[in-house]
Amino acid sequence: MIDIHVHLAGSLRPETIVAYAKEQGVPLPTYNAKELESYLTAPEKCVERSEYYDLCDMTDWILQDRRSIRQTVSELVQDLDAQGVLYAEIRFVPSLCTTRGLRQEAAVEAAVEGLQRGMRLSENIKANLILSIHPAMDERETFETIVEAEKFLGRGVCGLDIFINEDLYTSDACDWMFGLIRDEQIPFTVHAGEYTTQSIVKAIGHGAKRISQSVKLLDDPELMDKMKQLRVPLEMCPLTNIHLDLVPAYGKHPIRKLYEAGIRVCVGSDHQKVSGTTLKQEYRRLMKYLGFSKEDVYQMNLNAIDGAFISEEEKDALRGKLKEKFDI
Ligand SMILES: [Zn+2]
Repeated sequence: MIDIHVHLAGSLRPETIVAYAKEQGVPLPTYNAKELESYLTAPEKCVERSEYYDLCDMTDWILQDRRSIRQTVSELVQDLDAQGVLYAEIRFVPSLCTTRGLRQEAAVEAAVEGLQRGMRLSENIKANLILSIHPAMDERETFETIVEAEKFLGRGVCGLDIFINEDLYTSDACDWMFGLIRDEQIPFTVHAGEYTTQSIVKAIGHGAKRISQSVKLLDDPELMDKMKQLRVPLEMCPLTNIHLDLVPAYGKHPIRKLYEAGIRVCVGSDHQKVSGTTLKQEYRRLMKYLGFSKEDVYQMNLNAIDGAFISEEEKDALRGKLKEKFDI
């Protein structure tokens, strides 16, 4: 399987959070790893969007030094490998690691080391990092993240994830950011279309290589045609959409109709611990509740390879590996 949409925040092992929190004096609601695991799992329906994302951000409290960043990235790579993931693009927010003085550059360097260590200790997986631009970031932090992405591009970092308030896309407030990313030729994906399709139009206009979530896309057939023409892959994380109450239930998720309409849909596990899922579990639920076949799931994995921020040679090698090891 291929997971090109998984976040480090929200996917950390509870026992690692507890160990570092104790060491660093970080307050936690509980220092029992089992209890923390259930505390970190989002309720079936979050009343507020922040209820879900506060749980994800909580894990960043401990990611304030090189050692914890290195270890958690390495562990996530190994966890994904154990789940049968052959290639992953792990999203990571370096600007959230700077509260105690760590520089973004050091955070990215440590994450890259963790990535390499994780691959060394794994059986099959290859992985890259995607640096996320987060809603809470100011212009200086955003600029720094883009600089670091450019510096580490092809050396553990494969692109950027724009994860900002959707309203901002329709203004010109972020045009400078998209312009800079374009000038530096950094591939990027955008969380868009959760509330309106205007944000997708804007993101594609700025040159986004992939779009994330976009549960609203079905409302706009013209835009669907455009996405098909441009062959823009759509990363979907169904369980998160349900947690955030954007979709009432699996059986009602638009992913089936979007897939049938020819959109290049793929699936990501998003925040594994907060959502309480893995990629395999997501696919199994899609098969159970929406009638996807094994062949459909295989195709969605091929779509993920097409959209991955890697070279054509690497994509070819990955297609071969998927054919050999695909198991659902
Ligand atoms: Zn996401």
